[in-house]
Amino acid sequence: MDKVYVGTNWKMHKTIEEGQVYFRELQEIAKNKDLSMQLFIIPSYTSLIPLKREIDSNILLGAQNMHWEDEGAFTGEVSPTMLKEIGVDLVELGHSERRQFYNENDQDLNKKIQASLKHNIPPLVCIGEHIEQKEFGISRESLSIQLKVCLKGVSQEQVEDVMIAYEPVWAIGEGGVEATSEYVHQMHNHIRNVLVEMFGHVGNNVPILFGGSVNRKNAIDYLQGENVNGLFIGRSAWDLQKFEPILDDIERFIQNSKVAK
Ligand code: PEP
Repeated sequence: MDKVYVGTNWKMHKTIEEGQVYFRELQEIAKNKDLSMQLFIIPSYTSLIPLKREIDSNILLGAQNMHWEDEGAFTGEVSPTMLKEIGVDLVELGHSERRQFYNENDQDLNKKIQASLKHNIPPLVCIGEHIEQKEFGISRESLSIQLKVCLKGVSQEQVEDVMIAYEPVWAIGEGGVEATSEYVHQMHNHIRNVLVEMFGHVGNNVPILFGGSVNRKNAIDYLQGENVNGLFIGRSAWDLQKFEPILDDIERFIQNSKVAK
């Protein structure tokens, strides 16, 4: 895969003003980065329009969620047509907090993924096993089920627009436990196998990103995995003083990999 994807979801953090300060600085950083590093940020809905107006780099802008209907009586929801009007580059679907606090399930996600693809908004689909599933030794089965339900009905052509974020639920956010890189590489290989089983050789083109307590100490170890095509970072990316050194390390990693090829 030509690109290494690196992005962050701000969750319910940063006002418009705070977001603009961050974004202006990140754009400056991005201008000097290797073009193989594809940066993206996923702010709250309120920041999407102001940030979109300021884009002056190749950073992609994504939304944190989306309803599957184009319009209707769904108070508090935002539709694909509304996101399309803003011109977002992607939409994150199925973050574990959406699943945990808003009862989203894989069937809902399947409808959202279908809708995003219909509107040409590439979905970043989050999947991940719970700690109980890991302890019972059924992480792979859990990931297979999530992929097979979420991506049901997606065509080979459409899947080229899909990105997967593998985020073990037990590894993300405050209190998350860092996964070993060996475990992450094994799960990414499994996800790749399922994608190839479902979509044939095209399954090899779907970027699989890892997220969950990524920080400067573990980022490059995770990226060493053959099927780890990027990183999806929360807390370590919200402060640019922490994020910039991680981006520098990733850039060195990309450049060394190019030399080794
Ligand atoms: C997340 O919640 O999706 C996430 C990756 O967060 P963190 O990096 O803070 O664990």
